[in-house]
Amino acid sequence: MRAMVLDAAGQALRLDPQRTMPAAGPGQVLLRVHACGVCRTDLHVVDGELVHPHLPLVPGHEIVGTVAAVGPGVAGIGIGQRLGVPWLGWSCGVCGYCRGGRENLCERARFTGYDLDGGYADYTVADARFCFPIPPQFSDVEAAPLLCAGLIGYRAWRLAGEAKRLGLYGFGAAAHIAVQVARHYGQEVYAFTRPGDAAGQAFARAQGAHWAGDAGQPAPEALDAALIFAPAGELVPAALAATARGGTVVCAGIHMSDIPAFPYRLLWEERVLRSVANLTRADGEAFMALAAAIPIRTTTTAFPLEQANEALAQLRGGRLHGAAVLCP
Ligand SMILES: [Zn+2]
Ligand SMILES: [Zn+2]
Repeated sequence: MRAMVLDAAGQALRLDPQRTMPAAGPGQVLLRVHACGVCRTDLHVVDGELVHPHLPLVPGHEIVGTVAAVGPGVAGIGIGQRLGVPWLGWSCGVCGYCRGGRENLCERARFTGYDLDGGYADYTVADARFCFPIPPQFSDVEAAPLLCAGLIGYRAWRLAGEAKRLGLYGFGAAAHIAVQVARHYGQEVYAFTRPGDAAGQAFARAQGAHWAGDAGQPAPEALDAALIFAPAGELVPAALAATARGGTVVCAGIHMSDIPAFPYRLLWEERVLRSVANLTRADGEAFMALAAAIPIRTTTTAFPLEQANEALAQLRGGRLHGAAVLCP
């Protein structure tokens, strides 16, 4: 099979035209990959900002595929069934976090496209317990960004709590889905983009943002909560300053540059600053149902598998609206 392989952090991905097909082990399914989203986390892995990826690695954790083979011990999944594979690829199931419904925090968790080979390939294997059925109204390409950008954005949105005015910092794949969830619940969305990104701001307004402007400028109204998707630590004091008393600021990315020192008065008055890590299967099930009900419309740019490096470069340069998706 073909796969795009990371041999060492900081290098471009290498096309392996004859990689050995993985086999479905106990509890696993073999999937024929039809689409795999390109997530900002992939960029952090390729650029070496996340330590200790399993090398050589096939990245990709927004996988939509159909079951080509079923391993021993898998019940209720048939050949040809369409499944999605998210970032959380395995958790231990026995630790306090796992037993308490917080498997996203399991210290032994393994992540797709990081600890486990992912979906930048013709085929991949996945633990059947961590795969989600994809609602039928989404095409493979439309569904791919739901599996991380959508899911992590949903978890961040949920943990931000009640808010009439919601700020979104960074208007990429995650925010373009989160704005639709927020609008569905009647929230007013304020989108902050890279300074001077008029096209990005127009895209945010077209997606339903009430206001869009530069991340450096103050919000026109006090926000009740803010989600930070861009990996820029200086957005944390900016978002706290824009948030009203008692409001919550959620850092939704897996990596962020250092947060500069800021005066305590930005946190005072019961503002809450928190991060969101990974996802649980319960998040996945709830979000897929919600995405189908709204329904979420994803904006995607499709690339052939071999152009994974080009897709990553466009994401790095902020040149994409919505999400890039690889189509093996
Ligand atoms: Zn665990
Ligand atoms: Zn991701």
